[in-house]
Amino acid sequence: MKKNLILWEGNSLLDNAPIAVIALLSSNNRKTGDNGTKNMVQTVIIRTDVDPVTASKNKQDESICGSCIHRQSLGGACYVNLGQMPLSVYRAYKRGSYEYLSDMNKHWLYGRALRLGAYGDPAAIPVEIWSNVINDCKISHYTGYTHQLNYKKNGFKFDQKLTNFCMISADTPKQAKKIRDLGYRTFRVKTENSPIMANEIECLSDTKNIKCIDCGLCDGIGKNKTSIVIDIHGSRKKSYINKYEKVNISALA
Ligand code: SF4
Repeated sequence: MKKNLILWEGNSLLDNAPIAVIALLSSNNRKTGDNGTKNMVQTVIIRTDVDPVTASKNKQDESICGSCIHRQSLGGACYVNLGQMPLSVYRAYKRGSYEYLSDMNKHWLYGRALRLGAYGDPAAIPVEIWSNVINDCKISHYTGYTHQLNYKKNGFKFDQKLTNFCMISADTPKQAKKIRDLGYRTFRVKTENSPIMANEIECLSDTKNIKCIDCGLCDGIGKNKTSIVIDIHGSRKKSYINKYEKVNISALA
């Protein structure tokens, strides 16, 4: 019987704390396009020494989320319900319910689409781990997002190679422009009814009800390709709106 897989265990590149990456072979993520038979493999990054709810309370989520402004521990708008999926993944990991990725089971991932960091930032682990999984496991396509382009603490240095797999997250128009001027593609959140910028299109899940598994635009690849923008969503979106509404309205056209 197929089990969820441990893709990697090691020390976080963000602060050296122990973390693990788990691949969930089936899930119920409506946005990415899960319907029981056709779903993206979701990867979840967790600390291995403390559960995600406690880690967030103690701001130990920096090990997996780094400088993301949406961290709930910082009062941010992250839509992930830590008491649900991340906590149950942590508990199952601790119970020993998952198998390590190996030559015996890697075919379980063959031809599948992969979401890098459904919870946690892909930059917390070495980029070679992602590229090995993508190549060895014949991943069909992938999406990913990172907030760590400018993270500088604990000797961390952003690995440019990650932009071959991930969009660079941006939280204001100004930030997005600056990142795109460096040649990267951005995934920007904005407030509703605020303008989109040149070189951006709205997430196809919002505009055309196309799921990530069928869209795949958020793969980081292609310096001149369009960037993506999405209206902030989730039950905590107010915290983003309160702080960033003004800067979104004055988006550079
Ligand atoms: S643009 Fe496509 S891949 Fe990116 S989040 Fe939206 S639906 Fe998913």
